[in-house]
Amino acid sequence: MSAVNLGLPRLRGGPTVSEPRPDNPALIDTFGRVATDLRVSLTDRCNLRCSYCMPAEGLPWLPGEEVLTDEELLRLLRIAVERLGVTDIRLTGGEPMLRPGLEDLVAQITALRPRPRVSMTTNGIGLAKRAGALAAAGLDRINVSLDTIDPQTFREITRRDRLSHVLAGLEAARAAGLDPVKVNAVLLRGINEGEAASLLRFCLDHGYHLRFIEQMPLDAQHGWNRRDMVTAEEILGLLRAEFELTPSPVERGGAPAERWVVDGGRGDVGVIASVTRPFCAACERTRLTADGAVRSCLFSNDETDLRGLLRGGLDDEAVANAWRMTMWGKLAGHEINDAGFAQPLRPMSAIGG
Ligand code: SAM
Ligand code: SF4
Repeated sequence: MSAVNLGLPRLRGGPTVSEPRPDNPALIDTFGRVATDLRVSLTDRCNLRCSYCMPAEGLPWLPGEEVLTDEELLRLLRIAVERLGVTDIRLTGGEPMLRPGLEDLVAQITALRPRPRVSMTTNGIGLAKRAGALAAAGLDRINVSLDTIDPQTFREITRRDRLSHVLAGLEAARAAGLDPVKVNAVLLRGINEGEAASLLRFCLDHGYHLRFIEQMPLDAQHGWNRRDMVTAEEILGLLRAEFELTPSPVERGGAPAERWVVDGGRGDVGVIASVTRPFCAACERTRLTADGAVRSCLFSNDETDLRGLLRGGLDDEAVANAWRMTMWGKLAGHEINDAGFAQPLRPMSAIGG
C-alpha cells in the first residue's frame, strides 16, 4: 500500500493540487464533481478465477488482520453517509458473498441514516440460497456477473464449473424481489464475443438487464491489450445484427452505462465503455478497499490509508477530512488512452470493481 497521504493529495506523476479546498462537507473535487456513490470491497478473495481478472492460481490474499473489521467498516460507512453525503453504497470485491456475516452487515448498513441505497455486485455463487436473506436484510439491488450461458465457455473463462449455480442465483434474486436484476458481461475476443446476442436474448427472456463492460487494464497479470479488447462499437455491431437498438430516453446522469432500448421496448441493454468512451467527467464515485484505503478512481495510483487513522485513534471528523482531501485530488480522467498510462498496482479484485 502507498504511504498514508494526509496532506495535499498528489497527482500521478504530477504536481500536488495547490488549489485550496473550499469549506464543503461533501466529497468534491477540483473539476466540480461530487462523489455520492461509494464502492466498497468487502474482501479481495474470490471463488472464481476469471481470466481477465486474476491468474488461475489466485492471488496472495490480504492477511486477516489487514482487512477492516465489521466495526471499522461500519464506522467508515457511517462517516461516509452522515458527514460526506454518500447516498449509494455498492458492495463488491473480490467476491462479496465470501465475507463472513454479510447479511448482518447489510442490515447494519441499511440501518444508517439517512438510509443509503445498498446494492451488490457478485458472481452469483451461493446466491440461490442467500438472495432471500439478503433482500430481507435490506439489500436493494444486485448485479450478477455472467459472461456466457454456455457451460464450456463458462469453464474456460472462470476456470470453474459453476454456471448452473450462477443461473440459479439469478432466478433466486428475481424471486426475492431484488429488482431490477442486472447482469454484467465482459466480452473476450475469440472466446465469448460471438455470444453477445445470445446473452442478450437470454436476459430479455428472463427480464434481466444486461450491461456489457469493456475489458479494462485492471487484471492482476497485466495481460490486457487494446487489440484484444472488444470495443463498445463492436459490441453494438454484434447486437444490431439481431436486434434493433435505439438510444434510451432515460437521463444517464453519472451512470457508467450508455443504454439502448431493444426492439422498440422489449427490454434494454447497456454498454460501459470505460476505455473507448470514458465517462470520467460525470463520475460520482469514491472507493474503499477491503483493507481500508480510500481511492478516488479505479485507476488511481494514490490512495489514503483510513484504516491506519482509525487504528491510530483519530476522531470521525479527522477521518472524514482525510477522505475529503483524497477526493479533492481526483484526476480529470483515468488516462488509459494516454501514452504514459501505467496500470495501477492493485488489480480490480483488490480495489473492488
Ligand atoms: N466478484 C464479483 C463479480 O465478479 O461480480 C465482484 C467483483 S468483480 C471485480 C466486479 C465486476 O468487474 C464484474 O462484473 C467483473 O466482470 C468485472 N471485471 C473484472 N475484471 C475486469 C476487467 N479487467 N475489465 C472489465 N471488467 C472487469
Ligand atoms: Fe472473482 Fe469477480 Fe474477479 Fe471473476 S471478476 S475472478 S468473480 S472477483
